[in-house]
Amino acid sequence: MGTVYAIANQKGGVGKTTTAVNVAACIAEAGYSTLLVDIDPQANATVGLGLPKDAEPNIYDVLSGDARAEEALVPTSIENLTVLPASPDLAGANVELPRQPGSENRLRDALAPIRDRFAFTLLDCPPSLGPLTVNALVAADRVIVPVQTEYFALEGLAGLLDTLALVQRELNPRLSVAGMLLTMHDGRTRLGRDVEREVREHFPDLVFDTVIPRNVRIGEAPSYGRPVIHHDPHCAGADAYFELAKEVAARG
Ligand code: ADP
Ligand code: MG
Repeated sequence: MGTVYAIANQKGGVGKTTTAVNVAACIAEAGYSTLLVDIDPQANATVGLGLPKDAEPNIYDVLSGDARAEEALVPTSIENLTVLPASPDLAGANVELPRQPGSENRLRDALAPIRDRFAFTLLDCPPSLGPLTVNALVAADRVIVPVQTEYFALEGLAGLLDTLALVQRELNPRLSVAGMLLTMHDGRTRLGRDVEREVREHFPDLVFDTVIPRNVRIGEAPSYGRPVIHHDPHCAGADAYFELAKEVAARG
C-alpha cells in the first residue's frame, strides 16, 4: 500500500516546495513510482518541475468534483515521477470548501482510487493552516515539517503541532509526524548552530538527522524547471536531499 506524506508548515518560504519536489525526485530516482500533488495555489511545485500552471484539469477541478484525480495526472520528464498540478484557480477552494460539509475529506477521497499505484505520494501544502492544508492532513499518513534554520524557527511550530493533534483526534487517527526537517542551514554561523541545537532540544526524536544546507544550486534549480538532483547532481544540496529521502524511507 502506498504511503502519503504531507509537507506542511503554515510559514511561507521555509522550504516546503523545495523539499516536496526534491524528495519526490530522489524517491523516483531510486525506482519507486512517485506522485507529487501540488495543493498550493502558487503552483510552485508544478512550475518547478517544468510544467505549466494552467493545465486542465488540475487539482482545483479534482477538489471541486469536476474531474477524477486519474484524469489530472501529468507525467514528468523524470522517470517514475507523476504530478497532479495546481493552478491559481485553487485559491477559490479556500472560500468554497468551508461552505460544504465534509469537504475536509475531498482530497483523501479523490486520491483513494489511485494511491496504491504510487509507492509514495507527496502533498505540497500552501503556507497556511486553512482548508487546503487540512485536506492534505486528512489524506496523509505522515507529515514532514520543514523548519527554516533562522531566529524565529520555533515560532508557529506549537500552533502547527496543535493542528496536527486536532486533525489526528477528529479526522485522521492514522496521521503521524515523520519528522521535522532543518532547511537552509548555515553551519558556519553561530546562529545556524544555535538554532539547530535549540530545535533538537525542543523536539527530541522528531528532527531528521539530515540537515538541508543553504545552497545556491537548490535555489536556482526551479528556474530551470528541474529538481536540484538533476540540475547539479553532485552539489551539497543534492547530496542532502538524497540522504533525506533515505531517512524518510527508513523511518517509513
Ligand atoms: P515554501 O514552499 O515553504 O514557501 P520554498 O521551498 O518555495 O518554500 O523555498 C523558498 C525559497 O527559498 C525558494 O526561492 C527556494 O528556491 C529557496 N530555497 C529553498 N531551500 C533552499 C536551500 N536549501 N538553499 C537555498 N535556497 C533555498
Ligand atoms: Mg511552497
